[in-house]
Amino acid sequence: MTTTFADLGIAPALGEALTALGYEEPTPIQREAIPPLLAGRDLLGQAATGTGKTAAFALPLLQRLPPGAPPSSRPAVLVLVPTRELAMQVAEAFHRYGRAFGAQTVPIYGGQAFDQQIRALRRGVHVVIATPGRALDHIRRGTLDLSGLVSLALDEADEMLDMGFAEDLEAILAAAPAERQTALFSATLPARIITIANRHLKNPVRVLLEQKKVAAGKLPKTRQTAYMVTRAQKVAALGRVLDLEMPTLALVFCRTRTEVDGLVESLGGRGYQAEALHGGMTQMQRDRVMKRTRTGVLDLLIATDVAARGLDIEQLSHVVNFDVPESPGAYVHRIGRTGRAGREGVAITLAEPREHRMLRNIEQVTGQKIEIARLPTVFDVRAKRLEVTRASLREAIIGEGLESYRVVVESLAGEFDVMDIAAAAVQLAHEATAGPAEEESGPPIVDMSPPPERAVRASAPGAYTVHASAPLVSGPRASAPKASAPRAGERPVAPSRAKRRTAGMSRIYVGAGRKANMRPADLVGAIVNEAGIAAAAIGGIEITDNFSLVELPDESVDAVVTALRATKVKGKRLTVRRDQATRRPT
Ligand code: AMP
Repeated sequence: MTTTFADLGIAPALGEALTALGYEEPTPIQREAIPPLLAGRDLLGQAATGTGKTAAFALPLLQRLPPGAPPSSRPAVLVLVPTRELAMQVAEAFHRYGRAFGAQTVPIYGGQAFDQQIRALRRGVHVVIATPGRALDHIRRGTLDLSGLVSLALDEADEMLDMGFAEDLEAILAAAPAERQTALFSATLPARIITIANRHLKNPVRVLLEQKKVAAGKLPKTRQTAYMVTRAQKVAALGRVLDLEMPTLALVFCRTRTEVDGLVESLGGRGYQAEALHGGMTQMQRDRVMKRTRTGVLDLLIATDVAARGLDIEQLSHVVNFDVPESPGAYVHRIGRTGRAGREGVAITLAEPREHRMLRNIEQVTGQKIEIARLPTVFDVRAKRLEVTRASLREAIIGEGLESYRVVVESLAGEFDVMDIAAAAVQLAHEATAGPAEEESGPPIVDMSPPPERAVRASAPGAYTVHASAPLVSGPRASAPKASAPRAGERPVAPSRAKRRTAGMSRIYVGAGRKANMRPADLVGAIVNEAGIAAAAIGGIEITDNFSLVELPDESVDAVVTALRATKVKGKRLTVRRDQATRRPT
């Protein structure tokens, strides 16, 4: 039986707000935490980001706001969070959920002008979301009055202690009215957290999420990979990953209906046959989608957990988690749908840097490694496609039926080099199946994965380095064959060459390509003349429609980038930068 928000005691007005957000059912932490918090109990909860913990306390605390109470300079709810980013995020969540009650929320954090915060507090609010240091400053100045506090929540308490806020927390807790309700959430429960809980929580309900190890035999044979990207770039990153993986059929899991619908639209625009499956659909709509799935028409089935329950699809090659699932159990459940019948399945997870902890947790529970991989670049995608073409050619050569085509080769051989004839034939074959080469457009996708040496322990915020700025590629997917002849006299450069990394060499990116009439000679000329590099030292050059890549000795890259930025190439100032993707070990 499915538990609904209403079953947990959530009022219809709030429930409607959740439906509008596309939430289909409560997450485990919400199931456990909402009823006792609604009943006014104190609570100690172990939950990391991504589990739905914000709603687990925001919903009941909002519902417990004194009915009809106007916003006041004595707020009813105070939430303490470790960082400014989280303050904004949690405030945004309270705002979205609390609209139903007309709840006024304000975030206050260090680094923002006091005046502005004081004005907001004076105007009156119901909920204050604050970082501990700034909250304490306001309490001491008399600009944050805790005397009307009904509930106090500590979010990511372990993080607040790690950041040195222990004394501030003690001081704030001591300043809050004794009869308030307190909820403490923390991803881990070290002794210091337990001490705070023992001192400041009254007979708390404890909510510890399942940490049961999963029996090894229960997990299918599945390649598990995660990519770290920001929320804003997830759709573009997913497109790139799918282009590389070329799934027969992928089941893509999203948290909400709204996300499902959005993805269907954007991936459909990329040329994928994608269909939605979520709780808002009628049985007839579901049946139609399942029929299309089973007959092999679809590339992607995009679903919420609820809608995908009980689905058993034989031909599933990939499971994609558009977000890290809310619990290790949900992860195991999801990825268990691929890798059936002894075949190797593929499970791909897109994670935001802040969800890194959830990934680690899943690894611990499953005892299996989730490899954090570098986002594929446009060149990786092209190289993969060429690989597919190469494999098909191999089959054609080994197979029979070439006889009738030999005549064509022979008739051209008098005029052209056989190698050129073969290359032209490969090009036509490639473009007929793989489609035209993709074009660069939009902002670059930033790979947020931690550098390799930190991959294992990077759980603290800030432990990530942003690297790689591979150009974002969008455009039609490789299914629609389109003729795109190369310009006269120009031989296409094999993209695989761009991927081959020569030791001691790195690439630079120059923001102009074929469309700007950029030719290899222009690049060589500019590099030789402006940076004083010998032409012979310059490695491979690749020119695409919109940009060019030039391979250079590692030690001369910085000098060339500086020199080219300072000059005009073909009469224009160009974007020039080191192409980060070449520097990282693969
Ligand atoms: P949190 O763990 O609070 O950072 O939440 C992670 C994400 O899950 C947020 O984007 C929420 O909007 C989303 N979320 C929270 N509860 C639910 C739910 N019951 N169903 C779907 N998405 C949810």
